[in-house]
Amino acid sequence: MERKTAKIQGYDIDLISFDDAINYVSEKIAENQGMHIITANPEMIELANKDKVFSEILKNADLVVPDGIGIILALKLKKIELEQIPGIELAAELIKNCEINGNTIALIGAKEEIIQRTAQLLKNEYKKLNICYTHNGYFTTDKENEIIDNLIKQSPSFVLAALGAPKQEIFINKCRKKLPNTVFIGVGGAFDVWSGVIQRAPEIYRNLGLEWLYRTIKQPERFKRIYKTLPLFLFKAIIETVQNKG
Ligand code: UDP
Repeated sequence: MERKTAKIQGYDIDLISFDDAINYVSEKIAENQGMHIITANPEMIELANKDKVFSEILKNADLVVPDGIGIILALKLKKIELEQIPGIELAAELIKNCEINGNTIALIGAKEEIIQRTAQLLKNEYKKLNICYTHNGYFTTDKENEIIDNLIKQSPSFVLAALGAPKQEIFINKCRKKLPNTVFIGVGGAFDVWSGVIQRAPEIYRNLGLEWLYRTIKQPERFKRIYKTLPLFLFKAIIETVQNKG
């Protein structure tokens, strides 16, 4: 499938629906074709603007879906209507398909008790799911090499990295060349949500595109991240639109 994308500040965002993204990635998993999925938000675009390494990682991703509402708004300014694709929901659907199709998964990230609880809950929910490897997300560089070696040994079809951005994308980037047949996705705080430590926003917030507001109320420390990046991101999105019109 040819990628159909739109650029936001020079970075490709895939113009794909939730269902098509599931089908596309599930096909890749079935064909043993590795890929890196990035669930993009404005903070990532802003980081890529400042950090060359992250910029390259974002450019080299195989699928960049709009997770943050800011991305949806920036696209709207370009008259492009796209549905939000929350990484956590995309990952959950893909796990379900891995169970059905007998593909192995690995989970990397979060605190030890969280990842254990997540693995257990997933096994309860998806009885035939084969979780071939797990590791918490707090490790040294030496340990990281050991984790990558273990992943190579297990060769999972699908790896979920829940280390927060950009840590998870940097980790995935290190793994990719060594695991060319594995599909990787960074899922941020998904394991905290699945294990019940953090609640997702109620549907009404999600439908209004206000999940970020709910999360900021629940975790006020997140405010620092948002206010530093979101206004600037939206300002640049407006400038980009005006320039392209002129
Ligand atoms: N985390 C980790 N290792 C680290 C730092 C963070 O495994 O060195 C985990 C943390 O325990 C949490 C997740 O990464 O589960 C970060 O979640 P956050 O909500 O910040 O990510 P976001 O979805 O905002 O990218």
